Amino acid sequence: MDIDLSQPFELAEDVFWVGYYVPNDPFQCHVYLIRNGEESILIDPGSMITFPVVLEKIFKLTTLRNIKYIIMHHQDPDITGCYHTLESLFPKNQQRFIVTHWRTKVLLKHYMWKTPFYLIDKQDWKLKAGDRELEFIFTPYAHFPGAFCTFDKKTKVLFSSDIFGAISDKFFLFAVDDEEYYKGVELFHKHYMPSRHILNYALDRITEKNPEVIAPQHGSIIKKDMIDRVVKRLRDLDCGLYLLDEKVSDIGLLQKLDEKLKTLFKKILSSSEFADILRFLFLTLKEEIPVERIVVVSERLKNGKFLKIEITEDSINEKTLKELNLSELEKGEGFSWEEALETDKKIGRLIFIFKNKELSQFEREFLRLLIKHVKYPLAASFERKITFELLEEEKELLLKKAITDPLTKLYNRNYLFSYLEEMIPKSKEHGFPISLAVIDIDFFKRINDTYGHLIGDCVLKELSSILSHSFRANDCVARYGGEEFVVVMPFSTLHDACKKLEKVREQIKEHVFCKSENRSLKVTVSVGVTEYRDSMSIEEFIKRADENLYEAKRSGRDRVICK
Ligand code: GH3
Ligand code: MG
Ligand code: MG
Repeated sequence: MDIDLSQPFELAEDVFWVGYYVPNDPFQCHVYLIRNGEESILIDPGSMITFPVVLEKIFKLTTLRNIKYIIMHHQDPDITGCYHTLESLFPKNQQRFIVTHWRTKVLLKHYMWKTPFYLIDKQDWKLKAGDRELEFIFTPYAHFPGAFCTFDKKTKVLFSSDIFGAISDKFFLFAVDDEEYYKGVELFHKHYMPSRHILNYALDRITEKNPEVIAPQHGSIIKKDMIDRVVKRLRDLDCGLYLLDEKVSDIGLLQKLDEKLKTLFKKILSSSEFADILRFLFLTLKEEIPVERIVVVSERLKNGKFLKIEITEDSINEKTLKELNLSELEKGEGFSWEEALETDKKIGRLIFIFKNKELSQFEREFLRLLIKHVKYPLAASFERKITFELLEEEKELLLKKAITDPLTKLYNRNYLFSYLEEMIPKSKEHGFPISLAVIDIDFFKRINDTYGHLIGDCVLKELSSILSHSFRANDCVARYGGEEFVVVMPFSTLHDACKKLEKVREQIKEHVFCKSENRSLKVTVSVGVTEYRDSMSIEEFIKRADENLYEAKRSGRDRVICK
């Protein structure tokens, strides 16, 4: 189609190209007009280079009085350079607006124009002009933080601003489906679009509208039949990819890497399970290189141990190790790669073990770049895991300390009470018996007096060991006071408990305590046993057993009284 570039060109009903073709300029800048009665819309008015011709073309279509809206997609001089002059030509006392985004306004206000702003972000991204409705599409950072496009709902023309632009020696008002045109598009986008992800976000928003015509500010106007093809080329474009590594020029590799990193980062950010992240890394890597194992080991942790996580095709193995066997880690026939995991300090090692003895050049480069980009986020995630594990361990230790008697390692009195508080209601609910025994060493004072306190302590420890081995795991064996112990036996009737305590008493009586060459120490114990009865308090329960113990003492010691 031969187009007379000296005339306005109607690309859709009442939508005109009113730009000026600058001869031999590879960077053409377009101006568009929507003729819309008294609410006509001028889009990206242009610079002083294009202004005289643009003005002439406007006059061929309408009057300046009729232009109510001036859309400025951003603040560059090729869009706004003529506005000072244009504003002075507009008839006075007539309402008119500059339509733009707030980020553009904060810069444009420095021109001190008189025309007020219509901020699209404050107007629900819409403009109603007569019976026409424009929709604005936010395309941030493509290429300016406040960038947007304008969609005319009536004609489905999309004024795409810098997206879909082109730099080209040869100029065609309408895009021609050939390599030369696509090269011009690619060149422009590589220069102006900071990243493929940002561009793809914008393309998603634009294609949702299903435009009939795309009218960019630079390059050529794109008709419906070519839109899909241009969009596809732009989606795969390499803009921003070179930032991944300044030494690599293999765009295929960078593209692959970029795609993998995108999903990996998403996983690292969204998952709180380090092993899950590592497994995802394994699967991602496996798509490119036949990896056999990934191993992560920590440095020696505060608890003196090492944390090791190993991922293979079908297993996730997490261990704490007392010692680290390096040769075990490196074991295997294949190629391996080790990398330090560091945040502000070294926290561990990341080891990849492959099935093949050697990796190809592509595989090596891919691995190197992947590791380069994931190792810091991975290290941070591993550090979080380590901190969490240590905290959990510390919490457990503290809890254990709070309920343990330091000399005998039996439960302490505190735990005994909370155990009873929990167990008594359960026994009531499920109808099982609970028995309780108070055990006291006979004439213990004499042992201290005769052999000294250290031997006294030794007897207490040995006796505690006998007790803790004599009862069931669910029974609670506690040190109640100096040389007095309490055993709580759920599921035992008075009869069973009594039999059990008789045996224990016998066992203690037979035992030689704190053996040495010139000493053969023996002790006996007195025991009071009772069974829980309805509505007894914990104190009453213990007191009853204690009364039985008192009776055992009074009636000659070394015996068990059950009542
Ligand atoms: P009885 O047969 O009437 O129970 O006589 P007893 O001497 O065992 O009882 P008494 O209550 O008079 O003395 C208990 C002794 O246990 C007194 C105290 O010095 C000793 N004792 C309490 N706690 C410890 C401890 O942790 N280590 C040592 N070595 N002795 C302790
Ligand atoms: Mg005693
Ligand atoms: Mg006592």
